[in-house]
Amino acid sequence: MYNLDTPIEYLKGVGPVRGDMLRKELNIFTFGDLLNHFPLRHLDKTSVSRIADIKPDTDYIQVAGVIVHVELTGAGRAKRLIAHLKDSTGTLELTWFQGISWVQKALEVGQSKLVYGKTGYFNGRPQMVHPEMEAFNNLAVKGKPVLDPIYPSTEKLKVKGLNGRQLAKLTEVLLQTIQPADLPENLPDTLLQSLRLIGRYEAFKYIHFPPTPTDYDAALRRLKFEELFIAQVRLQLVKVQRHQTSRGVIFEKVGTLFNDFYNHYLPFELTGAQKRVIKEIRIDTARGKQMNRLLQGDVGSGKTMVALLSMLLAADNGYQSCMMAPTEILAQQHFNGLSDVLKDLPVTIKLLTGSTKAAERKATLAGLQDGSIQMVVGTHAVIEDKVQFANLGLAIVDEQHRFGVAQRARLWEKASLPPHVLVMTATPIPRTLAMTAYGDLDYSVMDELPPGRQPIHTVHRNEMARASVMEFVRTEIAKGRQAYFIYPLIEESEKLSYESLMEGVEQVKSYFPEPKYWISMVHGRQPADQKEMNMQRFVKNDTQIMVSTTVIEVGVNVPNATVMVIESSEKFGLSQLHQLRGRVGRGSEKSYCVLITGSKLSNEARERIKIMCATNDGFAIAEKDLELRGPGDIEGTRQSGALNFKLASLINDKAMLEVAKEQAEMLVTSDENLSLPQHERLRHYLMSQKGKTGWSKIS
Ligand code: ADP
Ligand code: MG
Repeated sequence: MYNLDTPIEYLKGVGPVRGDMLRKELNIFTFGDLLNHFPLRHLDKTSVSRIADIKPDTDYIQVAGVIVHVELTGAGRAKRLIAHLKDSTGTLELTWFQGISWVQKALEVGQSKLVYGKTGYFNGRPQMVHPEMEAFNNLAVKGKPVLDPIYPSTEKLKVKGLNGRQLAKLTEVLLQTIQPADLPENLPDTLLQSLRLIGRYEAFKYIHFPPTPTDYDAALRRLKFEELFIAQVRLQLVKVQRHQTSRGVIFEKVGTLFNDFYNHYLPFELTGAQKRVIKEIRIDTARGKQMNRLLQGDVGSGKTMVALLSMLLAADNGYQSCMMAPTEILAQQHFNGLSDVLKDLPVTIKLLTGSTKAAERKATLAGLQDGSIQMVVGTHAVIEDKVQFANLGLAIVDEQHRFGVAQRARLWEKASLPPHVLVMTATPIPRTLAMTAYGDLDYSVMDELPPGRQPIHTVHRNEMARASVMEFVRTEIAKGRQAYFIYPLIEESEKLSYESLMEGVEQVKSYFPEPKYWISMVHGRQPADQKEMNMQRFVKNDTQIMVSTTVIEVGVNVPNATVMVIESSEKFGLSQLHQLRGRVGRGSEKSYCVLITGSKLSNEARERIKIMCATNDGFAIAEKDLELRGPGDIEGTRQSGALNFKLASLINDKAMLEVAKEQAEMLVTSDENLSLPQHERLRHYLMSQKGKTGWSKIS
């Protein structure tokens, strides 16, 4: 008997040759894969347009007529087949560049054809390249509408006679071959009823061959929901399982270090968001379960203070803590900041990076091992094999998108009980993405900036206007402020990046000659101590201008810097621009960001610049980024299979995702092991998909 796992070549009409092509071109290996190869759209055969209706801005259109002319022109790569299709209103030129001999066989003057495709204008005449085409029978359009599925196909398949419409024929055969029992319901009845979802078998049938557009919509809605809901149930189960099985160190009390610091050394009043997150962390770390929390806070929202208070909490309970940053500069800066505010408190904090000198490193390693050092700040050097902790209770990962999941996992091995983990990211992730990519983590958001911050005024300037930009920078420096000039990393070549930076430095120097102005320069090729020295000079205001590549992107905190000029800003992505801009506007002075570009901009680059000038809100920017680039490319998300939805879209189906999440949470909360009879089929379905579920406990 056939089922969804049957290899595709056994489907009637496929066979070994086509089977091979389907595997290679579309990743269709089984009956089930073909069933999940969904139509791009449906054609209503009754809606045939007139050729005269084709306008320069017409997109896809379906027309019918008689072939009045067929001609082969050109030779070699310029060879093409041209045909003219005529109806009572006009003539449309059809063109093929590929598969010519195959098309030619199926095309004769005098035939009636129904063609469908994207129209364009060529030499002032309407034209359609590589249309979908079939014999046109006038009778077919009478009577009720016939919705014909059009499937995504590839040029290669089209050439070999497996175009979108032929795939439809195969799918039709497939649906006759498989039985309703092959597609059993997996959602609970109550859910189907309360959300008015149609059954699973019906949905698969109608998404391919809907009797009416309404049926198609119902099928799409059902299958999208299933996709989102199943993903959410999986995440909830992973989370529940982690909570059930994980043990963690217990921070049972808030002690004198925390209280002392809070009452006497806190340099400012905490924001509401900071207070809320610290409370969440306190509750989380007291339960005896491992905390695995993601903290998202926009640039400048004050995550470092949350980290510090959490580290004090660990120390109060006799545990060590570590904080890891993605770059040496940032680690150094965190260390400087933290040791400064902690200097009057009885805690020992050390820095550990790749460039820590041997003697110091040895002492630090010993202190971590015997427990005399309570806190360590560092780069990935902290998780190297040699580092042993006496009792690591808390690991904080700052600016997480630079830090791999595998690297984080190594922290677990540093203690008998896994330390609590707090991952902090300043790359806001749209809520929908966070819900799917991080749904199994505990999740906090700091959506509030400290009081008194003024929005950064952002403008776009053409590189021709550089002189006036420089004048502006000069007036800011004259007021005692500092400025950044950022140059892009040129991906193809480190050497080119370096050269463009050097040119940049020369240019900046020509406007701001030393010794009247002092310039720091930081880039990826510098030895760590030079980087650090340049950075420190800028921090201390010994230099007024910082020229750098994006190495200062994350975390650097110089509140007196009020201007950021980003060169070739069209080369940066949105979240990167936002991160960079976050280096200014950190003090109480009004800050500015100038985005310099060349004059030729792609539409997308123009859009990015426009968004940057319009808003300072990292979450709004993240939403736009998601719209512009799609979920696959967004920084700060795991490249997670959970994002690969076939039908649902994190951009267009937000509301449905919210419902799916809420329902999944309710269901899993009420029945953690899915052992209730009404959840039997859901459990059964997840088991059958075990490889994807990563859900081993439930048997
Ligand atoms: P980020 O979240 O980007 O890591 P930081 O922790 O570097 O932000 O904080 C940015 C700046 O805001 C720092 O100068 C910090 O001292 C200051 N800051 C943090 N919290 C507050 C607060 N509650 N009130 C005033 N200033 C704050
Ligand atoms: Mg930070």
